[in-house]
Order: sequence, then structure tokens, then C-alpha cells
Amino acid sequence: MPQRHLIAANWKMNGVKAALPVAKAIAEIASNHRAQIVIFPPATLLPLMSQLLEGSSVQLGGQDCHHMDVGAFTGDVSAAQLRDAGATMVILGHSERRHGHLEPCELVARKVKAALRAGLTPIICIGETLDQRKANKTAEVLTRQLRDSLPDDLAGNAFHVSYEPVWAIGTGLIASDAQICEAIGLVRTWLSERFPNAAPNILYGGSVKPSNAAHVLKLSGVGGALVGGASLTVEEFAPIMAAGD
Ligand code: PEP
Repeated sequence: MPQRHLIAANWKMNGVKAALPVAKAIAEIASNHRAQIVIFPPATLLPLMSQLLEGSSVQLGGQDCHHMDVGAFTGDVSAAQLRDAGATMVILGHSERRHGHLEPCELVARKVKAALRAGLTPIICIGETLDQRKANKTAEVLTRQLRDSLPDDLAGNAFHVSYEPVWAIGTGLIASDAQICEAIGLVRTWLSERFPNAAPNILYGGSVKPSNAAHVLKLSGVGGALVGGASLTVEEFAPIMAAGD
């Protein structure tokens, strides 16, 4: 039986209570499909969405968490608070955190440990910038991000990795088949050496749309998709969920 795809809807800083019916519709559609669907709404919507989705197959996740469990960290959200609000997963190391908030790999690794302490499954994002790709540094960058963002504590725990070329996120530019397969292959080889007993899904993220989702999800080694813009409406997300079958 092939690995079940994991399709992650990253809503980023989009959505207020009026968007809850979108989550409800996603859950109804998800029940007809094989892929594991996870919605990562803004933290403000987690408790309400958790109530709304009770009994459905759709899981919820946070988009980031603090590396400490509790304390004087104004504006931050802990992994335990995400768990308490209904999340089972958390995205860590997204490029909008790495580049927009200057988060280094070492901080991502601390956040991963915090997520594990709270019982959350992390999806750890890695990806090269356009300059790094043009300078033929993609393999070096991905290897360094894997080495420094994935702590030893992951051994024996569930986790996933998402390959997201920075230049493909929110740009409408999707990586080529060869670029995706090469990067996913690198990640898989690295993970099999460092965490030989783990069975993570390796996702692709970057301008996944209804028009390309089925193709991307069939590429060798692709275990799912992390979807930003196209996860905000049922019209666009429904065919992506179906593509995961
Ligand atoms: C993302 O949020 O990680 C992402 C890939 O966004 P988009 O699908 O909009 O490119």
C-alpha cells in the first residue's frame, strides 16, 4: 500500500471567523478522499475550528511555536498552547519565518524539540533561495538545513519534512519535475541515514494549484503537498485534495 499523501493547508495570516465554513466544507470533501488533510489556520481560529471539525478526519496544526514551554514572551504562542487549542501538528522553519523573522536553523531545532515535548508532530520546512539555486548551492543549503534544523530528539517520534524552494512560494512559479525529484531524493537519502527507523512524508510546497497538484503528487518520492494560496478557497483546494488519492 503506497504511503498516504499528507496535504497541508497553510492559511498563513488569512482568515477570521467568517472563514470557518471553508474549513467545514474542506472536512466534508476530505471524507471522500484518501489523503490526510491538515489545516493550519491562524492561531486565533484554532479553538473554534477544533470544535467545528470534531469527529472529522481533518487535523489541525499551528503555523509556528515558541521554543520555550512557558514564560514572558509577549506575542508568542507555545507548543502546549497550540495542543490545548486543538492542534496535533505544527509547521516549523517555514521560509516566511526563516527569512521574514530571521530564524536560524538552530532556533528551528529548538522549536522542534518544544513541539515534541508538547506532543505535536512537526512539519519542518527547508528550501533554497533563487540566488542559492543559481549559485549551484541547493544541495549544500538543503543538507545544512536538515543537519541543523532536525534535532536528534526526532528519533522515535513522528515528523515530516517539506521541501519548499523559496522562489516558488506564493510566486506562481513551480519547481520543475527534475528539481523536485532531486531535492526530495536528497532529503530521503539524508533522513534514511540519520533517522533510519523514521517514515516521514516528504512534502513539496511552492505554488501547488489545482492545475499541477495531481502531477506533483505523482512524482517519485513526493509524500504530499504544503499548499498556501490555493488552500484558502474550497474551489481551489477541493481538486488538490482529490489529487492526493
Ligand atoms: C506555503 O505556504 O508554504 C506555500 C507553498 O505557499 P503557496 O502555495 O502559496 O506557494
